[in-house]
Amino acid sequence: MPWGCRAALREPTWHLLSHHATSDGGTDYCRCACGTTVILHGGGIAALVPGTARG
Ligand SMILES: [Zn+2]
Repeated sequence: MPWGCRAALREPTWHLLSHHATSDGGTDYCRCACGTTVILHGGGIAALVPGTARG
């Protein structure tokens, strides 16, 4: 899986940004330590948005 970051489900280094309740379970937006935004949906990863964090 092309993560674009070193995050792993077993040891997530994510911080919850926000949660949006939906009719099918809800969507969570998390920010990885490397700057990537991780979008979780239905208990799994729905999308990864590479961040622009530098340094
Ligand atoms: Zn990461």
